[in-house]
Order: sequence, then structure tokens, then C-alpha cells
Amino acid sequence: MPSLFKIPIENLNGIGKKRAELFKKLGADTVGSLLRLYPRTYEDWSEPVRIIDAPQNDPCCIKGVIERAYPPARIRNKMTLFKFDMTDGYDRMTVTFFNQQYTYEKLRGGGEYLFYGHLKRQFSKYEMVSPAVAKPDRMKIHPVYPQTAALTSKQIEKAMEQAVAMLPETANDPIPPEIREQYHLCSLDFAIRNIHFPENNDALLKARNRLVFEELLILQLGMARLKGGRQRTASHKLQKDFTEEFYPLLPFSPTNAQKRAVSECIGDMMNCPYPMNRLIQGDVGSGKTAVAAAVCDTVVRNGGQCALMAPTEILAEQHYRSLCELFQNSGITVGLLTGAMTAAKKRPVYEALKNGEIDIIIGTHALISESVAFQCLNLVITDEQHRFGVAQRAALIAKGDSPHIMVMSATPIPRTLALMIFGDLDLSVLDELPPGRQKVDTFLIDSQKRGRAYGFLKKQIDNGSQCYIVCPLVEQNETLDLVSAEEYIEDLKRTELGAYRTALLHGKMKAAEKERIMGAFAKGEIDILVSTTVIEVGVNVPNATVMMVENAERFGLSQLHQLRGRVGRGTAKSYCILISDIQSKAGIERLRALCRTNDGFQIADEDLRLRGPGDFFGSRQHGLPEMKIVSLSSMVSLEDTQTAARQILDSDPLLTEKRHRGLAFETRRLFSKVGSTEQLQ
Ligand code: ADP
Ligand code: MG
Repeated sequence: MPSLFKIPIENLNGIGKKRAELFKKLGADTVGSLLRLYPRTYEDWSEPVRIIDAPQNDPCCIKGVIERAYPPARIRNKMTLFKFDMTDGYDRMTVTFFNQQYTYEKLRGGGEYLFYGHLKRQFSKYEMVSPAVAKPDRMKIHPVYPQTAALTSKQIEKAMEQAVAMLPETANDPIPPEIREQYHLCSLDFAIRNIHFPENNDALLKARNRLVFEELLILQLGMARLKGGRQRTASHKLQKDFTEEFYPLLPFSPTNAQKRAVSECIGDMMNCPYPMNRLIQGDVGSGKTAVAAAVCDTVVRNGGQCALMAPTEILAEQHYRSLCELFQNSGITVGLLTGAMTAAKKRPVYEALKNGEIDIIIGTHALISESVAFQCLNLVITDEQHRFGVAQRAALIAKGDSPHIMVMSATPIPRTLALMIFGDLDLSVLDELPPGRQKVDTFLIDSQKRGRAYGFLKKQIDNGSQCYIVCPLVEQNETLDLVSAEEYIEDLKRTELGAYRTALLHGKMKAAEKERIMGAFAKGEIDILVSTTVIEVGVNVPNATVMMVENAERFGLSQLHQLRGRVGRGTAKSYCILISDIQSKAGIERLRALCRTNDGFQIADEDLRLRGPGDFFGSRQHGLPEMKIVSLSSMVSLEDTQTAARQILDSDPLLTEKRHRGLAFETRRLFSKVGSTEQLQ
């Protein structure tokens, strides 16, 4: 295949300069990369169903004969309705089009057609509105491609037909034959042909399995090689472990899990010839901040500086406050640097970092700005909910001389996935919550019961508690979300919650404004905090006891679990109310999983089982290269790809052998987009 990557997309018929630009926006600048642009989904026209068997909510294909064409009806200015009756030989359905004069002329003559769309059923009447129509020779599985505004799926399909025809009889397969055989994978050319134009469902499945396997394998090879590359640099070895002196500073005794994580980190930094590179994974509330503080303490007492980067101003300031308190009489100095600070406020911080007066700096992205320099940065910590990309982490790391690296993640990820996503990191897991934590009772209700839920919130507030309401997400659009949140608050005023002190927190607010509102909420001056986005996860207000989430089905399970983690932080019993009108069985099942357990790892496993790894790879928040096919797939054996990667690297760690040339090529290609290729050459 590599040679097809040298043929520009303009060489295909019907693609001129202008259209080529559109293809480039989709990442397809050559015939080779076009072939790697996989369909987003498929329309299955291959097996038409009977009208009576049509699925409730999914589109389907129905084959039948036009029986009758009604006269066109003008229903509104410029709107004409065309209506037909058709039969599949057993039952009858109405087919309706708006303004499609051409389709009308075609169908009016009668004959047999395929109709693809959603079948609506009302009593014993059936109807399809604006279905796609084709002659019976289109009885195949059709690809649907991701689209840019100006490029239709059909146009991509036309180009793809030509590209597939250019595939050599046996394409150069990056997966070596022995691996293909061992894991029963089809060949590359079969996979490419059938991922675009499947012969049948079985061939599509085979193609997809093989491509998912390939993509995961290449991801793992790349990650493993990044890890290998990074470990070759020498590290700042710590001389002494100060944790026994540190623990008494904490207002509580650390859990065993916290102690274990701390000693794993310090062990790395004292004994390993390479810099530490470790992921601390701990459920919400498992006490990751204390782990970070303990590790910083020892690094500082060994003469180094530490930087802790948080994804939002609020989180940075929260960390800053807790570390200031913790270290107040210890001789360790803590500083803060965020984008919201004025230049005049930042300047002395820059100075103090450069001359070593600040031992631990907490901040946001502001930490990677050019003006920041350290005297001796020995430890970089990122506190993230998968928010920092590989590149951002790297920018902070570059401010030190191979500093130790610690990544804290609050999203519990099943171990198999964690190793894959953070394959270049070692892993410590905080699998134990501090004692005395109460279970947050979680309920799933439909919107008709919202009024009763409000009554419940009222009681809680009357008892002195505070509540969060996460607003209906409109879509991935901050402006629309904001409008809907403002309307929500207006509506709330007309309910029995109308008399309480309510405030809105949203993503577009200035940092200072957010800070003011969060501060007021923390001080108990606000009863109900309505929030549009989830950017403020991580906030800690122990007096809040109810988290209510509208449109809960729009959130990932792990995200909901994060939101739920905002309550149950104090001594009072806490509750999470999920509101959703979702009908699908799988959707309800998913939300019920959350009601059943408070264990983030179990939830993550459940999410993985129900939705496959696509969610993790599809979210693009992990800073990994974009995965093109994994996000479409259901479960493929992650373990298999792990074993295969290990097998390959054991025999050929640098992928220099001839049989691995294709893999080396694809690995470089995948990682070229995250700027990590130097280590992969
Ligand atoms: P997260 O892991 O979600 O970042 P935090 O570090 O914010 O958790 O800790 C959550 C809360 O638990 C904080 O109020 C913290 O003081 C408290 N905490 C942490 N560790 C312990 C412990 N071992 N015993 C009691 N409370 C603890
Ligand atoms: Mg935290």
C-alpha cells in the first residue's frame, strides 16, 4: 500500500483542485489515505424486511411495488407533498416526499423499488417519510462516509470506487503473515475492499475485525516504542524518602492505597535509572491530591522543584489552597500561576520560579507559556480528566531536564484499556476510598417525575444542604447549551424551587466570574448551582448533597460517575438523580448500572462491556492519535493485540526487519499527527 500513498487524490476522475481541498480536510490527500478513510456507518439495503417486521427505531429497507400515486398536494407556500401507496406483497404502506418532483416523476410510472428509511406505525397504518429510493439492483450494504459540509457521502463513495479499483491484487500487508495466521485475520486488500463495499455482513465483520486489530496493534507498537525511547535518558535520583515525616502533616491518616501509590512513585525516583513515568489512577475522592503532595514533599526535600498542572482555573486554585494549608509551617513554598492572573501578578512568580524560591508551582496551561523557567524542575504532575494532550504534557516536561512525570487520572479505566491508552506509563491504582465515605444513592427517573424530584431538592435545601443541577445538554455547542441553561433557570423560578438562591455556571464565563460563583457556592451563599458543562469536575463543596442531571443519557457513564462524585463529600447522606426519557433498553440498562454501584472501576468495566472501547478512543480527549476504526467497533480482543505487539517487539524492538517495514511505516503515520515521531524513526 505505501505506493498508493504517493498518488495524489487529484489523479482520480472527478476530483479537481477545489474538491481535492475538501478531501484533504477529511485527511485524504492521496489515494492511500483515502482508502483509510473508513465509512462512519452503513446502510444495509441487502436484506429487505417485510413491512410488518420493520424495526421500531432503526432505519430499514423495504422492497415493494408502487400501487397508487396520489395527486400532488400543495400544502404550504413552496411546499408540495407527493404521496404513494406501495405494497410488499403482504402489507401496505404510504410513502411521502416533500418537493421531490424528480422522485415523483420516476415512481409515478409504477414498478418495483427499494425504500430505505424509518417506518412509522400508527395503529394499523404504515408510513415512510422521505425515504431514500433505489432500483432493486441496489440491494447491497452501502457505506456512509463522514462528511464535510461541502462533500457528500455519495461523492466520497464515487472516489472510493476508483481508489478500491486501484488496489493491487495482493496489497502489501503491514501485518506479517505469521501474525495474520495466528489471529485469523483476513488480508489487507480483502479488508479494504470489504470495509468500503462489503460483499455481505460476514465479510464486513471480517474486514472490520482485521482493521481494528491492525489499528490497535500499531497503536501499541507506537506506545511501547515511545516508552522505550523515553526511558533511555538518565534521571534525577532521589537520595532520601521523607514520607514518614510528611504523613503527620496530613489532617487524616493516609489509606493503604495512598501509601502504596506514594511509595511506588518514590521507589521509581530513588531506584530506577530512568525518570519516573507513572499514572495514578484513582476514583473520585480517593485522595489523589494527598498522594501528589506527599511525592512533591519528598522531591522538594531532595532539592528539586515540582509543577502541578490542572485543566481548569478552579481546580488549580483549589489545589493551591489545599497545598498552601498543608505546607504552611513546613518551610516549603507553594505558588500559583493561571492565565487569569495579570502580567503584574505573574512577573514575581516567574522570578521566584527561576531563582528557586517557589518549590511547588500549581497552575493551568499558563505553566507552559514561554516566560516560565525553572531553576530545577524535577517533577511534573498533571491532574487531568484526560484533558491534556501528549503535546501539552511534553511542553511542560521540556521545562525540566528529564523530570519525573506523574499523571493523575480521575476516570477509572479498565486496566486493559489503561495500559493501552497510557501504554507509555507505569500504573498505580488507588482502589480504596478513605474511611467513612457514604454511598451516594442514585436514582433514575423520567422527566414526568421532575416535579417530585424538585420537592426532594427543596427538602434537602430546607435542611441546610446545597444542590447541583447539570442542565440539559443541547448538543456539542456551547452557545446553545448556554441558552438552554438560561431558560432552565427561568423555568426553575416558576417551580417550588423558585424562592431559593440560584446561580448559573457555564463554560463561557470569565475565570474570575466562575471563581466568584464557585466561591459563593462553597461559602453557602447559593443554594442551587445550575451548571451547563462538566468542566468544573473536581470541585469540592462538602455541603452539597444532591446532584441532579438532566438528559442523563447524553453523558458517558464515567462522566456521570464524575458528576456524582461532586456530592457525598461531607458527612450528610447524598443523592444523585438522573433524569432521562430514553426508551432503548440498552440505554436504560447503562444508566441503571450507575444506580447499582458506586465503584468507578466497575462502572468503567460495565461501560466497556456495553459500549465497547469506542467511547474511550472516540472521545479524542486522551491525547492519542486519532483512531479511525476502533471507535466504530465493538469489542475486539485487546489482549490479543497486546500479545501480538509484545511478540513482534521481542524479536525486533526497533521494527527494522523487512517483514516489519509496513508496521514501522504505519506506526510513523499514526503518530505523525501528535508530534511524537522523533522517537519512532
Ligand atoms: P481526588 O482523588 O478526587 O482528587 P481529593 O484529593 O480531592 O480526591 O480528596 C477528596 C477528599 O478526601 C478531600 O477532602 C481530602 O482531604 C479527603 N481525603 C483524602 N485522603 C483522605 C484520607 N486518607 N482520609 C480521610 N480523608 C481523606
Ligand atoms: Mg482531584
